[in-house]
Amino acid sequence: MKILVVNCGSSSLKYQLFDMDNESVLAKGLVERIGIDGSKMRHVKTGAEKDYRVETPIKDHKVAMKLVLDALLDKDHGVVKSLDEIAAAGHRIVSGGDYFKESVLVNDEVMNALVKCIPLAPLHNPGHIMGIEAAQHAMPKMPNVVVFDTAFHQTMPDYAYMYGVPYEFYETHRVRRYGAHGTSHHFVSLRAAEFLGKKPEDLKMITCHLGNGSSITAVNGGKCVDTSMGLTPLAGVLMGTRTGDMDPAVVPFVQNITKYSADEMNDFMNKKSGLLGISGVSSDLRDVEEAASKGNERAKLAISMLEYGIKKYIGAYTAVMGGLDVLVFTAGIGENSAETREGVCEGLEFMGIKIDPAKNNIRGKEAIVSTDDSKVTVVVIPTNEELMIARETKRVAF
Ligand code: AMP
Repeated sequence: MKILVVNCGSSSLKYQLFDMDNESVLAKGLVERIGIDGSKMRHVKTGAEKDYRVETPIKDHKVAMKLVLDALLDKDHGVVKSLDEIAAAGHRIVSGGDYFKESVLVNDEVMNALVKCIPLAPLHNPGHIMGIEAAQHAMPKMPNVVVFDTAFHQTMPDYAYMYGVPYEFYETHRVRRYGAHGTSHHFVSLRAAEFLGKKPEDLKMITCHLGNGSSITAVNGGKCVDTSMGLTPLAGVLMGTRTGDMDPAVVPFVQNITKYSADEMNDFMNKKSGLLGISGVSSDLRDVEEAASKGNERAKLAISMLEYGIKKYIGAYTAVMGGLDVLVFTAGIGENSAETREGVCEGLEFMGIKIDPAKNNIRGKEAIVSTDDSKVTVVVIPTNEELMIARETKRVAF
C-alpha cells in the first residue's frame, strides 16, 4: 500500500510517498515559491543518482500538486504507473484547536472545522487547506486524512491547559494551551517504549523535541499530560529565534519603548529573539556552540539559558507525573548535540538521571545514553513525523 504524505505551507508543498508494506520512502520532494516569481520543484526518487528539478510558473497549490503527481508518474523519475496505486494521502496540520483529538478522514464537516482553526495558526492552516483541496481535485476518489500537531496534546487535563485569563476568553476565543510537535512527541514516545522493550502504558516519560523550535512533553502511560508550547509555539524553552517563556508584561513594556504594533511585537519575539537574540551570532546551535568554544560570552550565555530552561521543565514534569522512567531527546539538537544532552542532565543525578559520556558521544541514531545504573533511562530517538503521518493515515483510512 502506497501513502502520500503532504505538508503544505502558504507557498510550499513538501511530500513523501511511502510504501507501507515496509515503511520505506519511494520518493520525496519540495515545491517552493508557489504563487511567487521563481517557483520550482525538486523531486528525489530513492536510490536515483540525480534529483529531478523543474522551474516553471506555479500559480497555486493545484498546479503544484499536478506537478508532484506528474513527477511520481514520470517514466524516468517516477515510482508509480498509475495514480490508483496511491491508496490515501495524509496531510500535516499545524493546529486542530480543540476540535480534533485525533487524526480523521477528511469530509465537509472536517473542512469547515479546519477553517475555524485558522485564527490559531494563521500562517499555516490556510496552506494546509489549499493542499487538501488540491489533492481532492487531482484524485477525487482517494481518501485524505488530516494529522494534527496538536492532537497528541488533547489529553492534557484542564488545569494544565488553561491560562489564568478571564474564563470568557476561553469560552469565546478558545484561548488556552494547545502545544505543538505532537506528531513527533507521539512518534518518539511510542518508539522509545518499543526500543526499550516496554509498553508505553507502563512508562512515565519526558520527550524533549529540541530543534529550531523546541518543546518538551510529559507523557504518562502513553498520554500527554502537559507540554511546554502554548496557544502558539512561542512558549516553553529558548529556541532558535523565539523567546520561550517570559513574564507576559515584557510585551507592553517593550511596546511602550519601541511603539511596535502587535504584528511587529510578534516578529520581535518569534524571529529576533532566542539563541539569535541572546548570542547575536546565529539561530543555529552549531554556530553558537562554535562561537562559545572561542570564548564568546553571549554565545555561552545563550547555551546556558537553553540547558537551564530544559532542566527546569524536566524537574517540573517529573513532579507532575510523580516520577520519571524515560527521558527522550529528539530533533536536530536533541539527536545531534551531545553537549546539550550532557548539559541538561548535569546535576540531575539526585533524580536518578546519570548520563554516560562515552555512550552519549553519538549523533543521529537510536541509543541509550545513560549509565547502566541510572534509574531513569535516557535515550536518543530520531524523530520521523512523516512516517507517523503515513502510519496514522493508514490506520484511519483503512
Ligand atoms: P531541526 O529544527 O530539528 O531541523 O533542528 C535544527 C537545529 O538542530 C539547529 O539549531 C541546528 O543547529 C541543530 N543541530 C543540527 N545538527 C547539530 C549538531 N551536530 N550539533 C549541534 N546542533 C545541531
